[in-house]
Amino acid sequence: MLILDGKAVSEARRQALKPRIVSFTEKVGRAPHLVVVIIGDVVASQVYVRNKVKACESVGMKSTKIALPAETTQAELNLLLDRLNADDEVDGVLVQLPLPKHLDEDEVNRRLVAAKDSDGFTFETLGHLWAGQKLVAPCTPQGVMSILEHYKISVAGLNAVVVGRSMIVGKPMGHLLLEANATVTICHSKTKDLRDFTTRADIVVVAAGQRHLLGREDFKQGAIVIDVGMHGSGEGKGLAGDVRFSELEGWAKAATPVPGGVGPMTITTLLENTLWLAERRQKL
Ligand code: NAD
Repeated sequence: MLILDGKAVSEARRQALKPRIVSFTEKVGRAPHLVVVIIGDVVASQVYVRNKVKACESVGMKSTKIALPAETTQAELNLLLDRLNADDEVDGVLVQLPLPKHLDEDEVNRRLVAAKDSDGFTFETLGHLWAGQKLVAPCTPQGVMSILEHYKISVAGLNAVVVGRSMIVGKPMGHLLLEANATVTICHSKTKDLRDFTTRADIVVVAAGQRHLLGREDFKQGAIVIDVGMHGSGEGKGLAGDVRFSELEGWAKAATPVPGGVGPMTITTLLENTLWLAERRQKL
């Protein structure tokens, strides 16, 4: 079984970004700039934001963290987004999720302009994607496509099943596979007989958010298995995905491990999205 090494792909793609960032910096007179907005004090979010800031540093991109108190109002957040939308020295913006309960994620996705939408979550960005006019795509599913591209796995003509239909993973994943000419089925929690679908697929992308949901008997022999799931360690359990990876050896053709598969690609794609948007705005 070919292990699809997302860490190695991520590293290779970050290296490839560096000369583009140097060239951007020379031509524009400043580095590409990502602004990360974090509201409140959720510990996990702080870790994610720190990792994003570090990732920017690792490739020579500028990042600014804007930390707002949990009591921030929607009007204040809107005002900040309007200011960042208008700031010519800001190339990408992301608002770390989840937001405090009183704030509206949809409003953020309506307000932030697609031209600076590094995460690929705004309605405008998703509209472009659906219309076949992709600007950027949400980072995790785009990262999956990059892994497939790196290993020269073409999905054209393949039967693809995506397990999960969230706006940030499952739905855009299905769409990206469709754009790459796969025949796509999206399964979800109301799907009757999930195994009936997954065992007929040439490639299965699992993003159900259920630890160890699927194993060998859920895939046909020779399938490509992409595990997006991410379940933290603790309570005697290790970091794990939605797939029982150890059962795939000698059965699947290729698979992503957890950790070291899809996970490392998400932040790298965030950097790629930001640079692409920066270059596009500067017409480079
Ligand atoms: P979500 O909870 O928003 O969506 C889960 C989807 O799976 C839903 O559409 C639901 O209908 C479906 N589902 C749940 N149980 C199912 C079942 N038993 N059978 C079929 N479908 C089922 O989650 P999400 O945000 O899309 O994330 C999915 C997983 O991916 C999570 O484990 C998350 O931690 C992980 N994730 C990883 C990264 C990364 O960088 N690697 C990024 C985002 C999400």
